[in-house]
Amino acid sequence: VILVGTLLAAAGWAVVRRRRGAVARQAALARMNAELEHRVAERTEDLNRSNVALAAEIIERESAEDRVRRLRDDLAQANRLSILGQIAAGVGHEINQPLAAIRAYAETGAQLIDGGHTPAARDNLSEIVRVTERIGAITQMLRGFARRGTGATRPVAVDEAIEGALSLLSGRIRDAGARIERAPIAPGLAALAGRIRLEQVLVNLLQNALDALRDHADPRIGISVGTTPTTVTINVRDNGTGLSPEAQGNLFIPFATTKVTGLGLGLVISGDIAREFGGDLRLEPDDGPGASFTLELPRAP
Ligand code: ADP
Repeated sequence: VILVGTLLAAAGWAVVRRRRGAVARQAALARMNAELEHRVAERTEDLNRSNVALAAEIIERESAEDRVRRLRDDLAQANRLSILGQIAAGVGHEINQPLAAIRAYAETGAQLIDGGHTPAARDNLSEIVRVTERIGAITQMLRGFARRGTGATRPVAVDEAIEGALSLLSGRIRDAGARIERAPIAPGLAALAGRIRLEQVLVNLLQNALDALRDHADPRIGISVGTTPTTVTINVRDNGTGLSPEAQGNLFIPFATTKVTGLGLGLVISGDIAREFGGDLRLEPDDGPGASFTLELPRAP
């Protein structure tokens, strides 16, 4: 009986102990659960906080990018206007000559009418029309140049863009006595660009070449065009002063200029425009004498 009693007591105690153990385990589990829930809540809160911070950062970065874009547009526009100012003098020259011609045709025309030479007078009038068309073309080009370009790109005939840039600078080129050497361009070759902005880049490169050729005995500017199946490259080189290693290191840095009246923006903005087209603008190193710049653009299919 004693043995049985002892065994029963032991069994009972074991049951109690096991139950107590189960209760303790359950409590521990509950504590762990609570701890886990607490941590999840904390982590979620952290995540929420960083999400909010991230969203704020995105907004901030977007508005910073907007500001950069606006600034870049403004700079491009300022550069365009400064170029306009510089070429205004040359344009005065360009327009004066046809104006003098108009005056001469009109004066002799009146005399021809007085003398009864109507067909000859009519010829004079046709000449006046032709010359005013030339003035119209010059002012139209200037107006187009001053207008802010749109962001879109489309096929632009490479020879026409080069022609446009050269005619904007024709007065300066003539005054400098610079010889322009142009290799023939494949007919119909087009780049994906904006006409006005492409001309702006070419005008910048040509103006720099002319600056570097000041007082040169035999000033020459070479313009050549190369292609690959996907790109068009326009190379503008001169036989001028070239660039010192220091000037080369500062290229494309805003306001870095070696000129007394320079702004140091031309190449910065030109490079920017080239990249906007999906292309690039670079100095060809050791391609002297003088400087050699290559503008690379996507080729229009
Ligand atoms: P800016 O003409 O107002 O100085 P740019 O950005 O067009 O500004 O040119 C920056 C500098 O690069 C010039 O001051 C000049 O030192 C150098 N540079 C550019 N093109 C030429 C070139 N064709 N020959 C010599 N130096 C050049």
